[in-house]
Amino acid sequence: MPRPRTRRSRAALTETEPNMRPAALNPLFAPATALTGIGPRFQVLLRKCLALPPGVVDPRVIDLLWHMPTGVIDRRAEPAIRDATPGSIVTLRVRVLKHRAPPRGNSKVPYKVSCEDDTGKIDLVFFHAERKFIERQLPEGEIRFVSGRIERYGEVLQMAHPDYIVSEEARGELPSLEAVYPLTAGLSGKILAKAARQAVDRVPDFAEWQDADWRKARGWPDFKTAVRHIHMPEDPSDVSSVSSFWQRLAYDELLAGQLALGLVRQSFKAQRGRVLNGNGTVRARIADALPFSLTASQRVALEEISTDLSSNHRMLRLLQGDVGSGKTVVALISMAIAVEAGAQAALMAPTEVLARQHLETIEPLARAAGLRVALLTGREKGKTRDAILAALASGETDIIIGTHALFQADVDFKDLALAVIDEQHRFGVHQRLALQAKGRGDATNVLVMTATPIPRTLLMTHYGDLDVSKLTEKPAGRKPIVTRKVPIESLEKLIERIGTQLKEGAQVYWVCPLIESGQGSTELAAAEERHAHLRQIFGDTVGLLHGALSAREKDETMARFAAGDLAILVATTVIEVGVNVPNANIMVIEHAERFGLAQLHQLRGRVGRGSRESFCMLLYKSPLGETASQRLDMMERTEDGFRIAETDLQLRGGGEMLGARQSGEPGFRLAEVPQFDELLAAAHDDARLILTKDPDLSSARGAALRMLLYLFECDEAVRLFRAA
Ligand code: ADP
Ligand code: MG
Repeated sequence: MPRPRTRRSRAALTETEPNMRPAALNPLFAPATALTGIGPRFQVLLRKCLALPPGVVDPRVIDLLWHMPTGVIDRRAEPAIRDATPGSIVTLRVRVLKHRAPPRGNSKVPYKVSCEDDTGKIDLVFFHAERKFIERQLPEGEIRFVSGRIERYGEVLQMAHPDYIVSEEARGELPSLEAVYPLTAGLSGKILAKAARQAVDRVPDFAEWQDADWRKARGWPDFKTAVRHIHMPEDPSDVSSVSSFWQRLAYDELLAGQLALGLVRQSFKAQRGRVLNGNGTVRARIADALPFSLTASQRVALEEISTDLSSNHRMLRLLQGDVGSGKTVVALISMAIAVEAGAQAALMAPTEVLARQHLETIEPLARAAGLRVALLTGREKGKTRDAILAALASGETDIIIGTHALFQADVDFKDLALAVIDEQHRFGVHQRLALQAKGRGDATNVLVMTATPIPRTLLMTHYGDLDVSKLTEKPAGRKPIVTRKVPIESLEKLIERIGTQLKEGAQVYWVCPLIESGQGSTELAAAEERHAHLRQIFGDTVGLLHGALSAREKDETMARFAAGDLAILVATTVIEVGVNVPNANIMVIEHAERFGLAQLHQLRGRVGRGSRESFCMLLYKSPLGETASQRLDMMERTEDGFRIAETDLQLRGGGEMLGARQSGEPGFRLAEVPQFDELLAAAHDDARLILTKDPDLSSARGAALRMLLYLFECDEAVRLFRAA
């Protein structure tokens, strides 16, 4: 039953509003095919080669600008032939003497062109050559500049397939330093370099957006000079992530990101939120229904949240708490405040399994408190879905729990006042904005919950400056989890011990990871194999959970495990982060050496939730590498998620961090530099100062900064304050 949309908030408009990008940027946002040398064929190759932002299918000129070189080919050496060092790259000025074409039909013999200067001779060598091309390029008797790698072949000097062959008049076309780019098969560096040079030429003269003193202190060039030196280096050191050119660009990217986040936050805070002052009745009923009392940090967090909600500012708060620290209850009680005030609340989980799990936890408590709760995931369809949507729109439903299905355009609330987002790191900024749009006007308060302890720098890139509440302690009665690393050779002994435990009513998660063969199906194979193996020993109390099962089958299996029908649950890594089966007390992780620390910690957090003594067995295959060994030792030593997260980042080092960041939400294209943390912190402070002094970006620098935001495609953020 389609209903007319009654409210369109500012954020909703961002979906339909025409693009307001300044015309000065059009040359950069033109399709890459606008460049000489880039036709449809290369467009396809560029698509593979360039890291395009989400939603961009056809590469644009700007994507070439952000495609950073990995090094430089230095063609500055212009020795006489006699002085040229074999093995090096040189540029030679030669006279073409004679063409020695291979006999027709014999493609094994190369085409040779002998050349000379006053000091010696050299052969230019072409395999599988196109005769016509060579004849045209190298007419006998003419002077040519050729550049490439020179080699000695017996007594003869050779240059095979010169990179450049130019006439004296065209000498300028031969770059003395050439940027080298990450490529893809079929795409030549020369074409890419040529396209990048054209991209640089299209960069307009921007008004400076960086603070003058800051830039001076750093000795950084202006933007255009920076991109020119990166793509058309004048010194090999220009193309380095520590060069002033690259550093400037990295900072620009970080500043744009921090400013965008700052604007989002500012628009949040600036809007007069509605005052949500509950009378405490629903909360009291929930407290009565809870089988435990809240921890001190749960109380503090709730105090902070209710203060936010009762103020006339909008809430944007992160609730950080280690696995098992009890975030769900905090979410429920926060939502109860909204309901007490006569409004609705939503709880969003990243997956269906988690959404259902939340429902199961919350529903009994909610029912006891007289709250009406509903579930909406991708699985609710047709009439069922219509009914859910109708109840939501009429206000019959107080709390809705769901997945990203809640973001869909036809989901309307009567009065959404609080959105709680669980495991936020899996959602994007766009979705966050889309969710806000569901609220009345702009009054939706947002509480983001994360189980992964995020180090400060990452927190800042994701969220900028948001308020944080931390759950620092585990609920009382939690027993420590005994963690041991166990070589796979001791598997039989382990199984024996587990057998003893099972007799006492223990329950076991048994996780099998991806086998490194690049195929997802091998993960399944490993799990299936272990499942079959354990079934032989323990019979049909062993269940199997993997990604290829239908959602319903997954639920059924989980439900059987939760009910205790299954004693052992063999699972691939699909076993969800937030799954809660308090009776499960043993976690076995195979090939633990292949997991990152954070992931091991997440998995381990599945146990230790009940009254039984809990164990985490990290099975590994010897020999253990040094890092892997340190990881597993760390797991044995501590259960402190924050310490583990910090160590994780240290152990993984730059390369992997880079990968994680790139695959994660913020995704930097230029800013992956060794000084990342320092630059980020500076950009963060800079953005804050800017917005304090000039919240509308209406000063001269503000205008330049708007350009920066568009340049880095933070259009959404710009719109936020344009509409304000
Ligand atoms: P997470 O922070 O990982 O989402 P949950 O909210 O799933 O943690 O809580 C984990 C378990 O701890 C649940 O079984 C929950 O009922 C229980 N729990 C939460 N708060 C308390 C408390 N104050 N005392 C005892 N148990 C609690
Ligand atoms: Mg949770």
